[in-house]
Amino acid sequence: MKVFHLAAECYPVAKVGGLADVVGALPKYQNEAGLQAAVVMPFYNVKFVQENEFDVIFEASNRLGDKRHDFQIWKERTNKLGFELFLIYIPGLLDRQEVYSYPDEREQFIAFQLAFLDWITWSQQTPDIIHCHDHHVGLIPFMLQHSALYRRLSKTSTVFTIHNGQYHGAFGYEKFYYLPEVDMQYAGLLDWSGGINPLACAIKCVAKFTTVSPSYLEELANNSNGLEYLFYMQRAKGQGIVNGIDTEVWNPATDPMIAGPIDPLLPADGKMVNKLALCERFGLSPKLPLIAFIGRLVVEKGADLLPEAFTQSLTEHAGEVNILMLGAGDKETEAALTQLNDLYPQNYTTYIGYNEALAHLIYAGSDFLLMPSRVEPCGLNQLYALRYGTVPIVRRTGGLIDTVIDFSDEGGYGICFNQASNDDITYAISRAISLYKNSEQLQLLRKRIMALDFSWTQSANQYNQLYDSLTSII
Ligand code: ADP
Repeated sequence: MKVFHLAAECYPVAKVGGLADVVGALPKYQNEAGLQAAVVMPFYNVKFVQENEFDVIFEASNRLGDKRHDFQIWKERTNKLGFELFLIYIPGLLDRQEVYSYPDEREQFIAFQLAFLDWITWSQQTPDIIHCHDHHVGLIPFMLQHSALYRRLSKTSTVFTIHNGQYHGAFGYEKFYYLPEVDMQYAGLLDWSGGINPLACAIKCVAKFTTVSPSYLEELANNSNGLEYLFYMQRAKGQGIVNGIDTEVWNPATDPMIAGPIDPLLPADGKMVNKLALCERFGLSPKLPLIAFIGRLVVEKGADLLPEAFTQSLTEHAGEVNILMLGAGDKETEAALTQLNDLYPQNYTTYIGYNEALAHLIYAGSDFLLMPSRVEPCGLNQLYALRYGTVPIVRRTGGLIDTVIDFSDEGGYGICFNQASNDDITYAISRAISLYKNSEQLQLLRKRIMALDFSWTQSANQYNQLYDSLTSII
């Protein structure tokens, strides 16, 4: 079975968040299971592209509105990621350094989708499945079904995965002319609330969509930035599949980015080696419990709550706990968190920025990882923390509900709380401090969490079964 994954991000080529981790791992596991899975993404002028060899395998030009664009398909020469990797290069549009946040982002992603469809049509390819990830490629199912240009792909099924339903990629009808000629009787499928909404359009057009956890599928009907009614009506088409983690990249026994290996059967020594490295780097005492946060500093992640919650915890538990923040995002939150560096120099550090190697060391060297998310479609951080023997402290939402059980419940191993609020966060931190004092229980929990299996094997199988169910209908 031939599958193309289409996405804006793919680790290690270009990563902003969890989308990249999934797109960089799932195809590898699908190929191991006998599929032919490939990734197609925009060209970015980034280190991975500069340092690896690519062949230009296709060149053509097409139209976006009233402009013609030349485009090229670049293929990575050695399949070193475990799958075929294709980049779509469009001079002036898809040739930049950053993944998002350009003013012409809509043009970039529409041009990406058109170039993909034109390439596979003109090069006479007939994939079985086109698997689209998030709104950036949400117009593909519609164009495939309702533009005569792509009729030869009518036997290809599309799957759409929602990694984040808060972002829709919506735009106004003044950009309608960017789309190819479509059958106008179906144009209503593009619409939500008087605009073109790629996420809504994808949900309406696909036979099946997936979310990255079952609980998130339910939540979208109550919280999806205006698409609640659509998700409520279309819920029967949805399936929640929890993300796996790439156990080759995230392996505490071999990870080159950490200070020393961690043995899952005897984690105490390895954890301490990493904690010492981390604490030395940030001037913190390794004797105290170390609670970390890694992630985008945005409201969705509950990051705005942290300056106040940390102030309260560091005051109530003065000299009893250390906190380490790694993240970037809202400037106000960045500033408020950075201010705490001076107020609590012995016990607190904020590192503003994106740093993959530091993230690995933090998963390895911390005792607890805090995730006070308001919205968490799946969450990968808690899965990495578990694999590296770090106890997750999570708000019960989305994928965090599906992957973390409170340690006071049977078989539990994390610290869970209900509200994204100051009170709940500080209470959870107090529980972590008490747990840390009970060294025997902590060691037991570490062994328990390091034995959990969140590898891709099971999740990849669920996607493969979904593909089977779609292709057998045709
Ligand atoms: P989201 O995709 O919503 O940001 P996920 O939990 O799905 O959240 O994935 C986040 C991924 O990004 C994880 O791999 C995490 O380690 C990584 N990450 C987030 N922020 C940073 C940062 N500042 N530095 C390094 N890695 C980060």
